[in-house]
Amino acid sequence: MPAISPNKPYRVGRSRTGLGLFATKPIRKGTKIIRYFGPMLDCKKEKDDAIENKYLFQITNRWTIDGSVRENIARYINHACRPNAESDVKKKKRRVYIRAIKDIAPGDEINYDYGTDYFKEYLKPIGCKCDSCEKKRKKLRAEAREEKKRAKARAEKRAVKAASGKKLNGHKALGVSRKSKTIAKGRKVAKRSR
Ligand SMILES: [Zn+2]
Repeated sequence: MPAISPNKPYRVGRSRTGLGLFATKPIRKGTKIIRYFGPMLDCKKEKDDAIENKYLFQITNRWTIDGSVRENIARYINHACRPNAESDVKKKKRRVYIRAIKDIAPGDEINYDYGTDYFKEYLKPIGCKCDSCEKKRKKLRAEAREEKKRAKARAEKRAVKAASGKKLNGHKALGVSRKSKTIAKGRKVAKRSR
């Protein structure tokens, strides 16, 4: 793992998706946390345009930062759909900073939204593993479990009802009531014949 000066407010650590960047000190909302940097690629140069990796950060139509270099600690920052930081792009200076958009507590993972292009290309196919997406999935799974339970309960209720209905019909067929009716009829007939 790369060496980070101890007066920086972050460290690289284990995260759900591999490695991530974590706060080691309180970081106030609005603070510039770290610069996202690397060689500047010019898409007009064929050689530059051919470079392909997961750490490309497009600044303008022409300029892209190749953030895959080891010294770029910011490349450890993972994507989140509801992040606590954002990328602040200075187009003229061709610089990118990661800035806190919430107060970040020590131990919190630092993350920012990588944007829709990245999301579609890399995250959607495997499923985003950020906290809010995991929470959403958990909620959906719990709801599905509840629905399954409810469906099972309904089916059981129906089965019980069907079984007791059969019993009732059975009694009728055996004719507790019908028998007595016949007896009554018989009596009537008997009366008349007298
Ligand atoms: Zn997500």
